[in-house]
Amino acid sequence: MLKKNFSDFNLSHEMNKAIAEMGFEEATPIQSLAIGPLLAGADIVGQAQTGTGKTAAFGIPIVERIEPALKKVQALILCPTRELAVQIAEELKLLGKYKKDLRILPVYGGQPIERQIAALQRGVQVVVGTPGRVRDHMERKTLQLDAARTVVLDEADEMLDMGFVDEMKFILGAVPAPHQTLLFSATMPRAILSLSRSFQDKPELIRVVHEELTVPGVEQTYYEVKEFQKTEILARLIDIQDMKRALVFCNTKIRVDELVEKLQARGYAASGLHGDMKQMFRDRVMNQFRSGRLEILVATDVAARGLDVDDIEVVVNYDVPRDEEYYVHRIGRTARAGRSGRAFTFVGGRELFKLAEIQRFAKTRIRRQRLPSTDDVEEIRNGAVLEKVRRIMETEAGEKYAALVEKLTGDDHSSLDVAAALLKMIMEKDGKPGSSLAAPQGDAAHRVGPAAAEPMPAADAGGSARTKSKPGKDRERKAAADPGPRLTAGEATRLKIKLGKLQGVRPGDIVGAITGETDLTGRQIGAIEIHDDFSLVDVPAALAARVIEVMRNCQIKGHPVFIKPDQRKDNRKKEQPKRSL
Ligand code: ADP
Ligand code: MG
Repeated sequence: MLKKNFSDFNLSHEMNKAIAEMGFEEATPIQSLAIGPLLAGADIVGQAQTGTGKTAAFGIPIVERIEPALKKVQALILCPTRELAVQIAEELKLLGKYKKDLRILPVYGGQPIERQIAALQRGVQVVVGTPGRVRDHMERKTLQLDAARTVVLDEADEMLDMGFVDEMKFILGAVPAPHQTLLFSATMPRAILSLSRSFQDKPELIRVVHEELTVPGVEQTYYEVKEFQKTEILARLIDIQDMKRALVFCNTKIRVDELVEKLQARGYAASGLHGDMKQMFRDRVMNQFRSGRLEILVATDVAARGLDVDDIEVVVNYDVPRDEEYYVHRIGRTARAGRSGRAFTFVGGRELFKLAEIQRFAKTRIRRQRLPSTDDVEEIRNGAVLEKVRRIMETEAGEKYAALVEKLTGDDHSSLDVAAALLKMIMEKDGKPGSSLAAPQGDAAHRVGPAAAEPMPAADAGGSARTKSKPGKDRERKAAADPGPRLTAGEATRLKIKLGKLQGVRPGDIVGAITGETDLTGRQIGAIEIHDDFSLVDVPAALAARVIEVMRNCQIKGHPVFIKPDQRKDNRKKEQPKRSL
């Protein structure tokens, strides 16, 4: 794959210095292909998978082309979430570290708009924002784009998925001056190509397809498991594989929290990562994971996008990803930099068809594996005990203990008998083998105990982190109620929000608020109707209560949200307003 050096681009001294400080040695493929044309002012459509350095691919040319003396917005970057807006702004600040007077501002919903307005008035050259909030500022005329030379849509497919199509079109259509338009997307659905046709001028298509669709070097297997078995099987895999740094994916934030709780109850050093967590806490978790203090990180897809850790050995799909592409992104987190990695996917019986789709899409083969049994764990554990005995024999078994053994041996018992009895004592001390998968409740109590590697009773007084836990609370049934991927008719609950046209609410505001505050994706949100002073939105029935709870604490267009289930069932319209292109 062609890769350029940054020195090939004739970048400014300040930029080269910043890039060197960021530790970038050479340009990634998408950077190698995009930076040249972008510096020359071209329009491009860029397609490459997550983690390939797209931010710097557009960030370097943008920062290079800013005119420092002009205190007007010269570049606008749209991205789907506030986390990404903050992240991109931060990376641009690093790239612009040695540029004098460069001002970059992230703007996103959820932050008081007045503060953003004040910041914008002080003169900003680069704005990174989510579509809803950017449109809001444009309509208030607090964001003027008459000097904008570059407009970027980052993760355009994700923004479409989230229902921001109207905002995207509005913004793209409202930039007055001649400018370049960049479209970055991991996938190229027709809607993206249509945006490109409408708003770009002879765009160059840059694809790093090879990396996008195949994930070489990752050994992929799947296990057929029932929902209630998942935690137990995960625990066995962790023990057997001796995982040091495993990234476990769940489909929703609630699932992340629940799994983390169950793993911690079993004594694993596990933590979660998702959008509800404060940035400071997320940073801490990432640092712990990076440094190895955390062995298992449980994350949602969006949260994992920001994760910048190289040597992840194992990726576990605790839930089958709801999108084939997520599968590729997820397992691409392991086997970085030429190392080999492993990916395990837990599949329920009814999800096997999804697995077939994934294999077709990713042009990959996922092999079926027999579920690891307690015997497998036993075997590993026995091996570890024997290894420890061997070590002690070689180094520290002193006279004192030999004398004790002598006491036990005699006419009736050989030293072999004595050794067998002692081993029996040791091995049965911790967790009885044979915990049954048929009993979802309380199986944690039977789990192979204090770390397979350290089962010696006396020598291990200090204890490893993995001590036997109290029987886990039975949250399995709740977990099994996870509604699954897309919203289909029949399982929707219609919610009524007491805000409507009069408050300037548009479908994108509602989708943005729900996806921003909860773990739902745009696709899980169904029909939306905006009336004069209220709006109706369909969400999966199983998540309705959660949506209500979370939304009651947030704002839409600066208004507090009154939300409740809609009572007038029979008023339901047959046709569903479409929100895609
Ligand atoms: P994408 O947007 O394609 O998902 P990012 O732009 O977020 O990827 O980059 C992923 C990570 O790679 C970031 O931590 C970024 O700093 C780093 N990175 C980007 N370009 C390079 C490079 N040329 N060399 C090394 N690391 C890089
Ligand atoms: Mg990115």
